[in-house]
Amino acid sequence: MGYPYNLAFSPKNLSKFNGYLINNLGDPYVGSHYATEVCDLEMDIINWAQKVWQCPPDEDFWGSVVASGTEGNLWAIYLGREALHDAALICSRDAHYSIPKAARIMGIECVTCDSNETGEICLMDLQKKVASLAGRGLIIALTCGTTMRGAHDDILGCLEVLEQAGVSRNRRYLHVDGALNGMVIPFLENVESGIIPSFKHEIDSISASGHKMIGTPMPCGILVARRNHVNRIASSISYLRSNDTTLMGSRNGHASIAIWERIVELGEDGFQRETQACLARATRLAQRLRQMGVPVLQNKHSLTLVFPKPNDDIVKMYQLACDGELAHAIVMPNVNDELINRFIHDYEFDFSARRSRPGIAAELVE
Ligand SMILES: *Cc1c(COP(=O)(O)O)cnc(C)c1O
Repeated sequence: MGYPYNLAFSPKNLSKFNGYLINNLGDPYVGSHYATEVCDLEMDIINWAQKVWQCPPDEDFWGSVVASGTEGNLWAIYLGREALHDAALICSRDAHYSIPKAARIMGIECVTCDSNETGEICLMDLQKKVASLAGRGLIIALTCGTTMRGAHDDILGCLEVLEQAGVSRNRRYLHVDGALNGMVIPFLENVESGIIPSFKHEIDSISASGHKMIGTPMPCGILVARRNHVNRIASSISYLRSNDTTLMGSRNGHASIAIWERIVELGEDGFQRETQACLARATRLAQRLRQMGVPVLQNKHSLTLVFPKPNDDIVKMYQLACDGELAHAIVMPNVNDELINRFIHDYEFDFSARRSRPGIAAELVE
């Protein structure tokens, strides 16, 4: 329950490809001499992701299936570094560790912004950090669904801070790390436009993991970026008969088949149904925990619940992810009512045994 993996997939249709080395070598739009590839399926996936993330049809975008959400973040930040002069990276302290790691790998300064008590980037602190970096190119890495608290950074709010500070479009690069909720928020109803991972906003790239909400049996991801950033770094490699636009040369074709299968199987309706059902179950779980007096944080539109860490047996049994005295659970499609009921039963037993003890997660916001 602590990891955001959608385990409600069936690997049956995929097993017939096990005997093949399927390698989407090079740029997915160009393909290569290597025949056993599925770049056509990868293109379907990219076109689908571009629809999910509302790419305006009159603007030019690029995309690829990547090895994981981490590769998407790393490559996006590389595209940003190459687009800007003397770039620094800004992210919140709730950003995934792959973001500051990307800055370290690329030798760029990483400036960490405060987050507020629910885990979103603090716009007032962002204003200060932007002012302190005046004159530099800025890569801003925002998160749609933070790892620990499932928070959504205010994309439009951040863009306003940048505008007010006079950081024009050509001096900034905005990436949205949507590893989990980049594939949740677009399928929910009544979401505030400011947190929607949509290229109608002035976003330069968005990434998501494939093994999280999409639900593949291997780690993978999707990255979509504005085409001009990719053209800037592309070089052509004649022996591949392809362009060098990806971090990995050889790329896992099985992952593209797996994502493609999920997209075809579920369709937009299916993703709407699944994500909305997860949100309803997450909200019910939060209510039931609160009814027993447990302080629970659930951000709006989020499948992630944060609550006091139970004993180690329960942590292990339900594979809760913990941070200090707090634990979190993520209600994915495989976290069904039966599992939730069993968890509530075990958690309640443990919670009432320790409830008399002081200092249980007083900092949690309801
Ligand atoms: C999981 C996660 C990542 C990393 O994705 P991987 O696919 O595990 O590499 C990045 N950012 C956020 C917010 C995540 O939750």
